[in-house]
Amino acid sequence: MSGRVVVFTGPSGVGKGTLLRAVLADHPGIYLSISATTRNPRAGEVEGQHYYFMDAAGFQDLVKRNELLEWAEFAGNCYGTLRQPIQEQVNQGKLVILEIELEGARQVRKTLPEAYQIFVLPPSIEELENRIRARGQDEESAIQKRLAKASIEIGAANEFDLQITNDDLDTAVEQLKEALFGQSQTTETPLANAAP
Ligand code: ADP
Ligand code: 5GP
Repeated sequence: MSGRVVVFTGPSGVGKGTLLRAVLADHPGIYLSISATTRNPRAGEVEGQHYYFMDAAGFQDLVKRNELLEWAEFAGNCYGTLRQPIQEQVNQGKLVILEIELEGARQVRKTLPEAYQIFVLPPSIEELENRIRARGQDEESAIQKRLAKASIEIGAANEFDLQITNDDLDTAVEQLKEALFGQSQTTETPLANAAP
């Protein structure tokens, strides 16, 4: 049995993690991909649960060994999706969600064109900044890098199959559930042709 892959993208602070947590609470069978990153852990982040944290040399090893389905640099750090767990989960028939930034989403669009791609928009740039600051976990320089990236990312929202505006949280959660489980999104996505 083959599962499918959904790409979930949007500017940092828009609420991607919040939306996914809400959907996962009702659908624990979904596999949320755990990425490798060179970023330092934030307070409360757990190795192997939120990310696989590593130094630049460790990340380069993954790249050299072709173990990443996609990878990109974001705000001064590298982030990448490990190919093998995705393959395994899809083979088990799971719905796999990749929460990744724009450049990675573009790579997946080439290697896995069947994967459904969702972009989350903020109600406004001002609200996005409020949310990043309210999260209170990034230094000012990181916040500025994330906001600069946000405008570029938002400009690419129309490349995606679906745009969800995360204004009212409950409404956005319902839209995401509909996108994941509604009748129109049942196409299977075999990973057989996903080699780069
Ligand atoms: P991302 O994963 O996209 O970086 P987070 O899920 O960490 O974003 O959310 C950033 C902040 O915005 C968090 O403090 C979260 O509680 C808040 N947030 C998320 N969705 C909403 C919403 N619809 N309305 C108000 N605040 C929200
Ligand atoms: P954060 O540092 O806020 O956890 O993540 C920063 C950005 O990196 C977010 O937009 C997030 O979606 C993205 N990201 C997380 N993991 C990956 C990954 O494996 N690949 C890519 N391309 N982006 C990722």
